[in-house]
Amino acid sequence: MSTNNKLAGKVAVVTGASKGIGASIAKHLAAEGASVVVNYASSKAGADKVVAEIISAGGKAVAVQGDVSKKADIDRLLAETKKTYGHVDVLVNNAGIYEFAPLEVITEDHFHKQFNLNVLGLILTTQEAVKYFPATGGSIINISSVVGVNPLPQASVYSATKAAVDAITKSLAKELGPKKIRVNSINPGMIETEGVHAAGFLETEFPKQVVAQTPLGRIGQPQDIGKVAAFFASDDSGWVTGETLLISGGMR
Ligand code: NAP
Repeated sequence: MSTNNKLAGKVAVVTGASKGIGASIAKHLAAEGASVVVNYASSKAGADKVVAEIISAGGKAVAVQGDVSKKADIDRLLAETKKTYGHVDVLVNNAGIYEFAPLEVITEDHFHKQFNLNVLGLILTTQEAVKYFPATGGSIINISSVVGVNPLPQASVYSATKAAVDAITKSLAKELGPKKIRVNSINPGMIETEGVHAAGFLETEFPKQVVAQTPLGRIGQPQDIGKVAAFFASDDSGWVTGETLLISGGMR
């Protein structure tokens, strides 16, 4: 993990950081010197482990529970961040769920569950966090997906949430530019995370099909995303906003 202190003195909030992609992003931002708020919904043990790893590597982090599909929890998450670290420079909207379903079995619940977290939660978290950004601005990173750009069959609702995320990124980049707040999307391809294991994807033919269409010949690991998140969080990407970057080994 690179440690150039590119985020020294910065405060980062990472939603859904108790495992998977969010945990890796939290560790990479902390390794660059950021104080990190490791948000989780239910996995306290996972979040505590991420915090312990960051602290034992010499970094700063706290775990804060909060279901970021709910406004009251979002407000509490940001209030606790303010109390602990004073402000926010980097927000990573990572918490998200993916449920695949063919058209004939889609229900209102399937729709609302995914849209409430992946889209509404992302908007409400951004709305609240922006209040705590300094006048010097900062960076918002939305974790989207390649399916936002190239939707999968039997995943119309999930794909639609990520296409919405990309539209929000582009809209808010224009809206928040005058406040010097940059907004970019990272669009991962298939990444081996706890969530992907739990969904049973790795026991199907799906990863083989993905790898066959991937020029770099493998599925991704969480650190493939963590590294790039550090780039978007730091001044290295200081003149980059409104972008959607596919990180997928070339699969599109
Ligand atoms: P994961 O392994 O399932 O981890 C999900 C994380 O989000 C956990 O920390 C979980 O916390 C948290 N979370 C879930 N619901 C939450 C809520 N309502 N409020 C706050 N936190 C919540 O997921 P992942 O595979 O790392 O995916 C993370 C993001 O990347 C998602 O937005 C996903 O759509 C996107 N993505 C993933 C892939 C992939 O192949 N893995 C590809 C493209 C995009 P608890 O454990 O406490 O519930």
